[in-house]
Amino acid sequence: MKRNKTQNKILKVLFENPNLSRVDLSNVLNINKSTISTNVQRLLDFNFLKETSKGNSTPKGGKKPINLMLNYDKKLFLGFDISKNYISYALTNLNLNIIKYGLKETSISKENIYYEVNRVLNNLKNYYIDKKENKLFSISISIHGIIFNNKITFTPNYDLDKSDFISRLKRENDGVNIYLINEANAAALCEHHFNKYKNLASINIRTGIGCGLVINDKLIEGFEGYAGEIGHMIVVPNGKLCRCGNNGCFEQYCSESADISYFNTISKEKISSVQDLTALYKNGNYAAIETINRNIFYMSIGINNLIKIIAPEIIFINSYLAYNIDNYIERILKHMNESFKQNVIVEVSTFYKRSTLLGCIYYGIKKFIENK
Ligand SMILES: [Zn+2]
Repeated sequence: MKRNKTQNKILKVLFENPNLSRVDLSNVLNINKSTISTNVQRLLDFNFLKETSKGNSTPKGGKKPINLMLNYDKKLFLGFDISKNYISYALTNLNLNIIKYGLKETSISKENIYYEVNRVLNNLKNYYIDKKENKLFSISISIHGIIFNNKITFTPNYDLDKSDFISRLKRENDGVNIYLINEANAAALCEHHFNKYKNLASINIRTGIGCGLVINDKLIEGFEGYAGEIGHMIVVPNGKLCRCGNNGCFEQYCSESADISYFNTISKEKISSVQDLTALYKNGNYAAIETINRNIFYMSIGINNLIKIIAPEIIFINSYLAYNIDNYIERILKHMNESFKQNVIVEVSTFYKRSTLLGCIYYGIKKFIENK
C-alpha cells in the first residue's frame, strides 16, 4: 500500500502519542474528521493501525471513543552496532521492543564483517523473519567512523571503509532497506527519542571519542558528516601527537586507549583495558588514581568547550569510567564550576552500549514512519 501525506502524519502522531481517538487526531493534525476517518480506515485495513481499549466516556455519558495505536508488529527492524572489537545486534518491532539480542566480542575487519553480519541475518531469517510477508523493513548498521550519504567514508579504528559488505548485503536482501549511521549519532538519536530533550549531546567514549548532536530536535551531521568529532578538538596546545596529524586532541587525553597508554607510561605494572585500570583505581593504586584524575580534568575541558559551542540542555556520557568510577560526573562538574557556571545537565547515559544499537534501529523506524 502506498501511503499518502495524511496517513503518514497519522502514523507519526500515533508513534509519538499512542492511544488517540479519531477526534484527537483531527484536533492535533488540524485535519477534518471525515478525512481522518477515511485515512484511519485505510490504515486499519492494511494493518498499520489497531483499535485499542476504549477511552473514557464523556461526562454526560456519551459514547466512548475508540482509541487507535500503531500495529507495532507490522514490521521488524534489525540493527547492528559494529565496533573494532565487538558486534552486537537487536531485532525489534516498531515500538523498539527487543525480540532478539546478541553480542559477540571479536576483532572486526573487512575480512570477517560480511560473515559476522550474515551469520546473524541467517539465524534471524529462520526464526523471526517470514520472507513471504517481507516483515523486515530495515537493517540499520552503526559504524564507528564517518558516514555520509548512507556511505562509509572514513573509519579510523578499523578498515571497514575498504569493505564491500554493504553492497553485498544490499544485493542479497532485496526489498530490505539498508541504512548506515555513525555510532555516536545513533546514540544521540536514542537519547533524543527516549528523553525528549530538544537540544542534547551524547558523548561515546571507547577507543576514540565520538559525539552525536541533536539541536532543535534535529540530528546535526555537518559538512560531509564530520560534525561532533570532538575527539579531535585540541585541548592541549602542542600536546600529544594524534593519529589525525594534530597535537593535543581531546581523545589523546580521555579515550580508553589514552588512559591505558598514560597509565602504562607512569607505572611499572602494565594494563591492557579500562577494566584493569578501574580495578587498580579501586585498590588505591597511585598510577591509576593519577590516570583517572587526569582523565577527569581533561573531560571537564572537553565538556566545557562543547557546551560553549552548542549550548545543549543535557549531555549524556557513555563510557566505562562514567559507569564504574564513583562520582565521576560530579568530579568533572566540580572542575568546571571553579571557572564556569551554566545550567547544563551532565548525566551518565542509562543505556550504556545499547544506546547506539537502539538509536540505529530507531533511525530505521523513523524512515518507516516518515515514509522516506
Ligand atoms: Zn586528533
